Amino acid sequence: MKPPAAPFTPEVLAIDFAARQAKALLVHARLCAEYGAPFRFFSTKDPLSELISALLSHRTKNAESHRAYQELRATYPTWEAVRDAPTEAVQHAIRACTWPEQKAPRIQAVLREISERCGTDAPCSLDFLAEMPIPEARAWLESISGVGPKTSAATLLFSTLRIPAMPVDSHHHRVAQRLALIGPKVGEGPAHKLLADLLPPGWDAQQVYDHHEALMFHGQKCCYFSAPACHRCVVLDQCPFGQARLTPTPASSE
Ligand code: SF4
Repeated sequence: MKPPAAPFTPEVLAIDFAARQAKALLVHARLCAEYGAPFRFFSTKDPLSELISALLSHRTKNAESHRAYQELRATYPTWEAVRDAPTEAVQHAIRACTWPEQKAPRIQAVLREISERCGTDAPCSLDFLAEMPIPEARAWLESISGVGPKTSAATLLFSTLRIPAMPVDSHHHRVAQRLALIGPKVGEGPAHKLLADLLPPGWDAQQVYDHHEALMFHGQKCCYFSAPACHRCVVLDQCPFGQARLTPTPASSE
C-alpha cells in the first residue's frame, strides 16, 4: 500500500534551498529535543561486519535481522568461512531475515568481490575507508554490486569508523518528504544526497547520527505511514502535509 500523496502546492515546491536548509536545522533541533539526543551509537561492529549486517537488514525488522546476523556469526567463525560455505547453508543461517534465498548469494558475492579487490585470500578489513574522502569511500562501497547509498552510509556511520555519512531509511524518507525537505517524487536513493546537502558540511558523526535517528524515531513514533499523529507533532508548523490534513475542507466544515 502506498502512503497518502503529499499535497504539494507550487509554493511548497518552489521553496528555495536556503529555506530548506533552515527548516532542516529547525526540525533537527526540535526532534532531537523530543527524542532525547544525543543518541548512543548502537553498533560496535567493524566496517565489514557492519556492511554484512546492513545487507541483512534490508526490508527486515531490526530484531529479525539481528537474529539472522547472530546466527550467521555463531555458525561461521570468519567472513572467509561465510564466503566459501555452501549457499544453502548460509541461507539457512540467515533464515530469520526476509528473502534469505536472495541475501545469501548476494552476501557471498560481496565477500568474494571484496577479497578480489583487496588481493587477499580472506576478505580484508575495510578500515582503509577511513583514509578516503567520504564521497570516495561511498563510491568504493557502492561500486560493489548490491550495495546502494543506504548500505554504504550505514557501513561508514554505524561501524567503528564513525564517518559522518547519512543513511536515509523509509521512516526518515517519509518524514522528510512530508516536511517538503525533498520533493514528493524523490526516491530513497536520490534522497541521500539531497538531504545530506541540507546539513552543515562540518557536522561530525554524532550530529549526523542524531539527525538520522531523530527523523527515524519521528517516523516510528508519530509520523506513521498511514495515519500520522499530526495533532501532537512538534514540527506541525513546518509541515505542509500535516497542515493540509488538519485543515477542514469546505465540505467538512459546513
Ligand atoms: S505534521 Fe504530521 S505529517 Fe507532518 S511531520 Fe508531523 S506527523 Fe508527519
